[in-house]
Amino acid sequence: MNKKTVKDIDVRGKRVLVRVDFNVPLDADRKITDDRRIVAALPTIKYLIDNGARVILVSHLGRPETDENGNVTPDSVKKFNLDPVAQRLSDLLGKPVKKASDCIGDEVKAAAMSLQDGDVLLLENVRFYKKETKNDPKFAEQLASIAELYVNDAFGTAHRAHASTEGVTKFVPGVAGFLMEKELDYLGRALGNPDRPFLAILGGAKVADKIPVIDNLLTKVNSLIIGGGMAYTFFKAQGFEIGQSLLDEAGIELAKNAMKKASDLGVTLLLPVDVVVGKEFSNDTESKVVPVDQIPSDWMGMDIGPETVKKFTEAINSSKTIVWNGPMGVFEMPNFAKGTRAVAEALANADATTIIGGGDSAAAVEQMGFAAKMSHVSTGGGASLEFLEGKELPGVVALQDK
Ligand code: ADP
Ligand code: MG
Repeated sequence: MNKKTVKDIDVRGKRVLVRVDFNVPLDADRKITDDRRIVAALPTIKYLIDNGARVILVSHLGRPETDENGNVTPDSVKKFNLDPVAQRLSDLLGKPVKKASDCIGDEVKAAAMSLQDGDVLLLENVRFYKKETKNDPKFAEQLASIAELYVNDAFGTAHRAHASTEGVTKFVPGVAGFLMEKELDYLGRALGNPDRPFLAILGGAKVADKIPVIDNLLTKVNSLIIGGGMAYTFFKAQGFEIGQSLLDEAGIELAKNAMKKASDLGVTLLLPVDVVVGKEFSNDTESKVVPVDQIPSDWMGMDIGPETVKKFTEAINSSKTIVWNGPMGVFEMPNFAKGTRAVAEALANADATTIIGGGDSAAAVEQMGFAAKMSHVSTGGGASLEFLEGKELPGVVALQDK
């Protein structure tokens, strides 16, 4: 990676503002139901503590409502404050974590100035101010004013130019944390210098959303698999009846172009050969396997079929780098999760570098128990997609070059 990391800077005694992604799911009692995002930031936080930095953490949580002045509503303070996160982080670190009741202002400044080497302070939800997502320069300057160094370890928000992800770097030098470094290394190497054959697997729901990804990946990969809900737009483009299956009308032309581009570039494009169709969009609906050119007009495609699983597994087994984005079917319904599970399992067992990007694909892999067997499961859904599109992420661009 060509960006500086925390290891390139002497952090001892410095007040370091670390942008983390502590946007964790909470239940109705505000208990954290999944702390993986906090755990993922621990290597950077521990490194800073161990090296005598004064650690100031900043994150967003949820989507707080703001009033006409751009300040958080009292109701949203109750719902989206970071108190439960401070508690969990303290448990995970085995040391106290101070919690500020704001992210800017005199009280925060005083708390920051009184930190000792190795102390940890967690600021309040940065999205309590509308100025955060507006990337307001004054707000960014206020955030930056308490720190001598900025570390971005929040890959999941790096595709957004917000005050805490981009604006702050105008006022304080920024470097990458370890999670950010790992994300950029895996995704960057896959796109820039992959072991070949390089296979990309795309699925999920919206073709139009993922066309820029397909477009960019076609110039990099040896083979491209299209599965999931996206595949039906490709079938439609080929003139097949797709019944009640998901169709992205605007994507039909784009699908045609992608097929042409693949053949021009000599990329092997693999589409399903059979699918599992259902009568209705529900787990318990009647279902059957049909070849892709025989989808009955009153049924809908819910998953890839067994012949397709075989074909996709062979492609996976003959590849050295595999990037996967988008489930192969409606995996939230157990009866239509088989295709996604089979692909996840094939990836888990493959003798290849395997990278999972995309919120739902990552969730599927975690839920099915294959996450630990992948080379890398990205923590950023939207950010990983933009990376695969070939876009520069503003939160990364803003960091110091090596
Ligand atoms: P990711 O978050 O990994 O990028 P997407 O958000 O693009 O993936 O798509 C995930 C969604 O696609 C899932 O909710 C899944 O149910 C849906 N999906 C997959 N296959 C189908 C299908 N055949 N019909 C309808 N929805 C589908
Ligand atoms: Mg999604």
